Amino acid sequence: MLRCRDIVELLGDYLDGDLDPATAEALKAHLADCRECTAFVNTYRGTVRVTRQLKEEDLPLPLRDRLLTFLRRHTQS
Ligand SMILES: [Zn+2]
Repeated sequence: MLRCRDIVELLGDYLDGDLDPATAEALKAHLADCRECTAFVNTYRGTVRVTRQLKEEDLPLPLRDRLLTFLRRHTQS
């Protein structure tokens, strides 16, 4: 089973379509059960979409760090 912090690690590849199918399925299964990660995905998606109109490459790492900090505060696993 994936945990929330795994989702954060995998999400960029997932949204780019770079995950293997089994991992993508596991990620989707986690999202179906986890409100925090669903909110995270929605935030990530929206921010990436907006920011990609300005810059292609620079967003993911600082955003991921910020959201990872958020998730660590909200999850104890
Ligand atoms: Zn989660």
